[in-house]
Amino acid sequence: MKPGRFAYHAPRELDEALALLKEHGDEAKVLAGGQSLMPMLNFRLAQIEHLIDINRLGGGLDAPRLDAGRIVIPALVRQRQVERSAEMARALPLLTSALKDVAHPQIRNRGTICGSLAHADPAAELPSVMTALDATFTIASADGVRTLGAADFFLFHLTTALEPEEILLEVAVDRLPDGTYSAFQEFATRHGDFALAAVAVTCGLDDAGAVTGCRVVAAGVAPTPQRLTAVEELATGRRLDEALLGEVAAAARDEVDPTSDIHASAMYRKRLTGVLVKRALADVGTQQEAAHA
Ligand SMILES: Cc1cc2nc3c(=O)[nH]c(=O)nc-3n(C[C@H](O)[C@H](O)[C@H](O)COP(=O)(O)OP(=O)(O)OC[C@H]3O[C@@H](n4cnc5c(N)ncnc54)[C@H](O)[C@@H]3O)c2cc1C
Repeated sequence: MKPGRFAYHAPRELDEALALLKEHGDEAKVLAGGQSLMPMLNFRLAQIEHLIDINRLGGGLDAPRLDAGRIVIPALVRQRQVERSAEMARALPLLTSALKDVAHPQIRNRGTICGSLAHADPAAELPSVMTALDATFTIASADGVRTLGAADFFLFHLTTALEPEEILLEVAVDRLPDGTYSAFQEFATRHGDFALAAVAVTCGLDDAGAVTGCRVVAAGVAPTPQRLTAVEELATGRRLDEALLGEVAAAARDEVDPTSDIHASAMYRKRLTGVLVKRALADVGTQQEAAHA
């Protein structure tokens, strides 16, 4: 299949891109890596009048910024670029670990982090990771800049708070404090497929191995990344031992309400979520033991 006809724009300045979006917003789409948009256009699942290719924009949009306390990932940072960076692996191991499960290297070479977030597939890895990391989304339009947290950014299946005339300019996360660990677990039928379910966790542990606080987020089981707050409350203040791991698995199963589809039944996804939460929190415990060995 080939896409319908559209006008192609390749602005070199952000202001120019934002002006084009202001003029054509409802009839336009931003092109970043094209790894989701181009298939959708080719299959005519999306039809547009104007394609605004942001790949030629300057202004450092293709370079992550790693400050002492904060990591910023602008709109044109490719998934593979982050995956292959040793500095990013040290700063944000949760993101690096999840990226290995996103599609295949060829797709990650072009696909951007922000493009995956703007696309907001419920089974995608990165929205759950950014929710677990409590990320801030910076959104630009010709009328100004606004910021949103993950809970307000992801609205529904393939739907975010981005208005048609807006660009997701960057996503930013704070570095995790000392004593906070992270883990990502997913199960897909074949490596590189979208997850049947996935879980991203950040978890603070004190020296005795008790949970001081955690964020536990599931993907593939709801229209948006789902924070498992009952699991978080159950774990907080408790030692991360076998008994607790059994309890969190059961709590996670009870907390999600996935749908069935041709890939898996709802019951399978519930059980899988429990297993993945248990594995992720066990992984966090293992990391702490290794850090203290
Ligand atoms: C075979 C295959 C397998 C895949 N498997 C997985 C997988 O397992 N997990 C997974 O998460 N993804 C998977 N993907 C999708 C892939 O990760 C995409 O790269 C990603 O979803 C979109 O990033 P992109 O930069 O290519 O965005 P594009 O395709 O360019 O854009 C996607 C959407 O986001 C919008 N958009 C992009 N950037 C911005 C921005 N900065 N501001 C506003 N809107 C923007 C576009 O207008 C479009 O609507 C797969 C893709 C393919 C083709």
